[in-house]
Amino acid sequence: MYSSQINDMKVICIGRNYIEHAKELNNPVPKTPMFFMKPDTSIVFNNNPVYYPEHTKNMHYEVEIVLKINKKGKFISEKFASNYYDEIGIGIDFTARDIQDQCKKKGHPWEIAKAFDQSAPVSKFIKKTDLPPPNNISFSLSINGKRKQVGNTQDMIFSFNEIIAYTSKIVTLKPGDLIFTGTPEGVGPVSIDDHFEAYIGNEMMMDFYVK
Ligand code: MG
Repeated sequence: MYSSQINDMKVICIGRNYIEHAKELNNPVPKTPMFFMKPDTSIVFNNNPVYYPEHTKNMHYEVEIVLKINKKGKFISEKFASNYYDEIGIGIDFTARDIQDQCKKKGHPWEIAKAFDQSAPVSKFIKKTDLPPPNNISFSLSINGKRKQVGNTQDMIFSFNEIIAYTSKIVTLKPGDLIFTGTPEGVGPVSIDDHFEAYIGNEMMMDFYVK
């Protein structure tokens, strides 16, 4: 039961959920949530290092608040959506920006730019009851000791509940699934040997290297 949950888990990522980030990549602000998925092999736990993939010359970091789904649901209504997660963490949606730009131009799918192995390191999780309300969670990313991204979930275009309601119309959510809820502005390129530290509030949640 436990191992099948881990093997079956999927990662759902919301794109363009912060206006300033949509603007920095010259993307329109969406009217409905926009999502894509990553496979279980994208996930890296326990501060293990991430190896810079060979197929990109411009991998970017995107720090995001991550929800861990705790029960199975389809067509979840917004009203009950908060019952479908009780833990929150933080993760990096690593993106091969050069490849993504080519995909966008050609109208191709994004998997090659987004869903590669190790593209989704995630932190430990904490109970949502130990955090500020879902619409007021501050978070940040430092690389090599320098603050690179700072966000607060109050700036999300679509709330956690709206995201859960929308995505569960399309795909069944299952226990252990992770939802990356979008990145604020300040994304940028990754270099080998970069040291990542991601925070929720003042708590350091994740600390790893890119090799
Ligand atoms: Mg992202």
